[in-house]
Amino acid sequence: MMRPGRGIGRAAPRRGGDVLDMRTACERCSAELPRDSTEAYICSYECTFCARCTTELTRTCPNCGGILQLRPSRVGPA
Ligand SMILES: [Zn+2]
Ligand SMILES: [Zn+2]
Repeated sequence: MMRPGRGIGRAAPRRGGDVLDMRTACERCSAELPRDSTEAYICSYECTFCARCTTELTRTCPNCGGILQLRPSRVGPA
């Protein structure tokens, strides 16, 4: 009843898009903003800025004009 192997060993290239690309540096000053940072701010398009730049930018994204909000840190079990 088993069909002969078909396509085994041929890894299908992954079409990007399923992995969320979390930026880990401020787009303005390149300050490091690791995943668990509590000082990372993002807009709805995920432009990422550090707390200091966010304050200097009055919480407005210079790229898209969106409001910068504190990025939820991803800590805990994966
Ligand atoms: Zn910055
Ligand atoms: Zn933006």
